[in-house]
Amino acid sequence: MSNKIQSVRGTRDLLPEDNLLFRFVEESAYKKALLYGYGEIETPIFEFSDVFHRTLGETSDVVNKETYDFTDRGGEKLTLRPEGTAGVARSFISEGMMQNLPLKFYYSGPMFRYERPQKGRYRQFYQLGAECLGYESPLADVECIALAWDLLKQIGISADCTLEINTLGDAESRAAYRDTLVQYFTAHKDQLSEDSKMRLEKNPLRILDSKDEGDKKLNANAPKLEQSLNQTSQDFFAKVLAGIEKLGIPYKVNNHLVRGLDYYCHTVFEFTTSKLGAQGTVLAGGRYDGLIETMGGPKTPGVGWAAGIDRLADLVPKELAVKPEVLVAIIGADDQGEDESVKVAHEIRSRGLKAENFLSGKMGKKMQKANKAGAHYALILGGNEVTNKTVTVKNFTTGEQKEISREELKTFSFSI
Ligand code: ATP
Ligand code: MG
Repeated sequence: MSNKIQSVRGTRDLLPEDNLLFRFVEESAYKKALLYGYGEIETPIFEFSDVFHRTLGETSDVVNKETYDFTDRGGEKLTLRPEGTAGVARSFISEGMMQNLPLKFYYSGPMFRYERPQKGRYRQFYQLGAECLGYESPLADVECIALAWDLLKQIGISADCTLEINTLGDAESRAAYRDTLVQYFTAHKDQLSEDSKMRLEKNPLRILDSKDEGDKKLNANAPKLEQSLNQTSQDFFAKVLAGIEKLGIPYKVNNHLVRGLDYYCHTVFEFTTSKLGAQGTVLAGGRYDGLIETMGGPKTPGVGWAAGIDRLADLVPKELAVKPEVLVAIIGADDQGEDESVKVAHEIRSRGLKAENFLSGKMGKKMQKANKAGAHYALILGGNEVTNKTVTVKNFTTGEQKEISREELKTFSFSI
């Protein structure tokens, strides 16, 4: 064990400049979600292990290899949440919200997965997401996708993102497809990875989501789900596509898209980008009509998505997230002026403007520091100014400097 004080592999500190971007993404998402009628929910960061292990499916990568499981001092088996949907579904059941359907939830917060850390892939990462419970209609899928698209537009990255969409069909279609897949993969069993051999028994659809190179080759020629879709499933998908076309959201159907988690049916989708290298999926979701029943609740249709905030923040144009703001530097020229400078800074801030007090070094040094910090104005105070109840205003942009009364300062217009 290392005795150095350092952060755990796969975790990172979000510094002020990171948080400017994170907040911009989260605030934009929160506001959009409210417009669409999604109220914010916050579920605990850890739950009983069963909440995730039962819902995500024992054959999923997340449950097999990625969860942070631990036993607490009371002997309870707990898991740090690897994603948001299972917790929302648990809350829906344990809070007895069945009478209030339909319900729409928005959330954001940290998630934990034991993965191989790399750029855009962390062990503590951040997601925001939306869940719509209680609607069977494909138009709910359309609205949910529209919210995602609207958000990507709002944060200035929609032009970098592509919507890929597919259908997994209903239970009947999936069962039919499952049989076709088992036939195909059984004939090529010797070429399957060890993980996929296990999946062949338990959940052959999952093989299509494999990242193993050998599996990927087999997947390229695997039978397509499309051929096993019954009429109901075809109609459902057609309505989803018609809806997103009507809204003018560009998309492409990707028959290989299956999504990593067990509980999806009908619509599955991802927004991907080519701007982030290998970690190109920024937002992903789909319909999960069977989930709540699997967890012991009443049969309740649902559709939702989650976006990786770390990846969204990497794409956001900085000038959109960080609006230029006036910065007023307060400079005490001597001890008397410095004492008063605290009060002047307070007055400026109470007008809702950004003020920074420069409290160390000589007058010249302070001015240099203020300039370097990007200040637009400096308010200079010495003993004279204090006695005369005035302040010297320097405009850093024009170089202009003048003395005004403290009374005038109250309404002085600071502009960039
Ligand atoms: P991937 O195929 O990249 O592993 P996933 O299917 O496991 O993704 P989801 O469970 O669908 O991902 O999570 C939704 C989104 O959360 C992803 O599209 C991605 O943007 C983000 N995400 C998932 N895992 C991580 C991670 N370890 N670090 C950073 N972001 C992540
Ligand atoms: Mg993953």
